[in-house]
Amino acid sequence: MKFGGSSVGKAQRIRNVTAIIKTHLDRRPVVVVSALGGITDSLLDIATAAGTGNDTMPMLEKVISVHYDTIGELSLDASIISEEVTKLRRLVRSLSPLEQITPVTLDKLVSFGERMSARIVAGSLSKSGVEAHAFDAYDLGMITDSNFGNADVLPESYQKLHDAILQKSGTLVITGFLGKSKEGRITTLGRGGSDYTASIVGAAIVAEEIQIWTDVNGIMTADPRIVKAAKSIDLVSYNEASELAALGAKVLHPKTILPAIEKNIPVRILNTFNPTHKGTLVQNKIDTGSRVASITYKKQILLMNISTRSMFKTPDFSNRVFEIFETHKIPVDLVFASEVNVSVAIDSTYNNDALIADLTKIANVQIKTNRAKVSVVGNDMMRMNGVLGKMLSALKSFNIHKVSSNSSSINQSFVVEEENTAEVVQTLHTKFFKR
Ligand code: ADP
Ligand code: ASP
Ligand code: MG
Repeated sequence: MKFGGSSVGKAQRIRNVTAIIKTHLDRRPVVVVSALGGITDSLLDIATAAGTGNDTMPMLEKVISVHYDTIGELSLDASIISEEVTKLRRLVRSLSPLEQITPVTLDKLVSFGERMSARIVAGSLSKSGVEAHAFDAYDLGMITDSNFGNADVLPESYQKLHDAILQKSGTLVITGFLGKSKEGRITTLGRGGSDYTASIVGAAIVAEEIQIWTDVNGIMTADPRIVKAAKSIDLVSYNEASELAALGAKVLHPKTILPAIEKNIPVRILNTFNPTHKGTLVQNKIDTGSRVASITYKKQILLMNISTRSMFKTPDFSNRVFEIFETHKIPVDLVFASEVNVSVAIDSTYNNDALIADLTKIANVQIKTNRAKVSVVGNDMMRMNGVLGKMLSALKSFNIHKVSSNSSSINQSFVVEEENTAEVVQTLHTKFFKR
């Protein structure tokens, strides 16, 4: 059972989480938690402040007091987080002003969010009479590569987690989002990574089910923050869920589904604020027929058009271009390639400067920023009659910059102006879901 930041926000929410866990004790849950709502962002802000020479102390004290206030409201013993608080204070004091914080230090700094919330949730369970213990995931065997900020879990973690977890008594409350590299440094699994922790843990112990408890009634036909009429979807296939997560649906971290697929474990998305709602069940074979399941979007996309300077066609031009992307480890998307031209969409949050410098050595590079990718996702969708025509007609009043050329049967994506994202999503939603 994984509880998100939104779910473990304030004291009342922790009471809800505690009550939900208690109703599932007969199934012997293992609990995974994110940091309290907003805390990861605040810890990242502290790092930014330190790097720009600003005073970090007021921000640090705010983070700490949110936790102590929550503990106070729940009448728990403040000492449950005192060790973490001491270490966090020491770390923030040691940050050199005006010096860029390293990825290693950044991961260590943000780790305190989950380390404190796991102890608070375990404390709340204990107080309500349930034997519960908090653990840092890396102390149970969560080992990752050294890609700080976006680490991948290494396969040997499964056996280690399995053995460690089954040996412990009581209900385990494990930190989401965190691991350790082989050298013993704390790593994080990318923003929203607690979902991934939950599915790794679920796969490691071959759980009956992986439950992702969040703040909405499951996976919906669109992000409910943008589309008021969005409805929750009862059944979603593994493929649809992976695709939706990869294409921006924040409700699941993109890596969540793979460990579940490997062990064929159903994933259920449930609402902490509406625990009797059945939410969404994600599993292997579901017979939905061809359908549009959901509309999703990803902002901060940039388009790059790379064209050869030579007047003549060069058969290896696109290979050379893709090698450069490869060298810089920048994934490309919505690719169109010919002998004289390559156009791609990429995530503008990567640092692309070095990539552009290298591309410019062999080609003319044109960049368009402030774009978003909107995708329509559903099983066998492209086999539905006239589905592409329906999408294009819904979008005719918008400036569409790029349509995925090699459309898979399960999704179709468009690049639009970022400022039009909400309207495009709403228009497509109306087209496909309005009765
Ligand atoms: P948590 O803190 O529980 O991990 P997140 O904020 O990461 O929660 O994810 C839940 C949010 O995902 C929802 O509040 C919703 O705004 C957003 N979201 C985006 N797309 C979808 C979708 N298709 N279905 C449901 N929620 C979505
Ligand atoms: N606390 C982390 C984040 O905000 C991980 C998570 O919420 O899943 O990204
Ligand atoms: Mg999340």
